[in-house]
Amino acid sequence: MASVNDSDASAEESTATVAVDGIGKRYETGRQDVQAIADVSFAVEDGEFVCIVGPSGCGKTTLFRIIAGLEDPTAGGVFLGGDRVEGPGTDRGMVFQEYGLFPWRTVSENVAFGLEQQDVSEAERETRVAEMLDLVGLSEFADAYPKELSGGMKQRVGIARALAVDPEILLMDEPFGSVDAQTRNMLHDELLDVWAETEKTVLFVTHDVEEAVKLADRIVVLSEGPGSVREIVDVGLDRPRTRTDEAFVEHAEHVLDLLH
Ligand code: ADP
Ligand code: MG
Repeated sequence: MASVNDSDASAEESTATVAVDGIGKRYETGRQDVQAIADVSFAVEDGEFVCIVGPSGCGKTTLFRIIAGLEDPTAGGVFLGGDRVEGPGTDRGMVFQEYGLFPWRTVSENVAFGLEQQDVSEAERETRVAEMLDLVGLSEFADAYPKELSGGMKQRVGIARALAVDPEILLMDEPFGSVDAQTRNMLHDELLDVWAETEKTVLFVTHDVEEAVKLADRIVVLSEGPGSVREIVDVGLDRPRTRTDEAFVEHAEHVLDLLH
């Protein structure tokens, strides 16, 4: 870990919900070290929807895992409301590309997972699970097993599970990368509804520029590896957004230009 320096001190004073401050990550692989990301800084405000966009291999998952507390940075730090991230916590709910559902658990048992680690009564747990399934429109599938669900439904279970413990921040790493385009569009609208309803802060990683323009308040555009911030794009379009709108297309072209 890097020692505390001036910029760490300023991030610690920041009231931003998430402050990513001078993050670098070097993987020591033995034969050859890999500098995955270098000097990444940005802040996310309470209730904001921020997308992190960059080409494949630029270090998006590395950044996601560092914010999640699953990986230590080799430089800089991540601060949540001023506190340095030292590991995973229930203040951050995670959704991964590969669902990560437990195949031997039903939908409701999957959603209940995080709550089981907490000191909540069974009655409270059942109420909470029912609320979450209602939120993602899966109440009728409470007793189904993951193998009986489509990819889109599995990812809705993933979102319900992440939100069950009521985290402040929802972290998503290419969550819709494995579903077809039509389902993905539906999931975008559903996610925006969930976001509006729950007022969570969302950090959403994707390599899909249109997805980012569809969803984000702001887009953190990363350059090719080692990833660093090329520009932070303010999207500021009214929702719902239409891909064929002139302003939408202009934003998408701007982000694409930054990536090439
Ligand atoms: P992205 O998610 O943008 O595709 P990643 O964060 O997965 O990028 O990877 C960034 C770079 O770091 C890549 O060159 C990748 O090979 C390397 N990398 C990722 N994880 C590890 C690891 N555990 N050990 C060594 N190198 C890694
Ligand atoms: Mg990745």
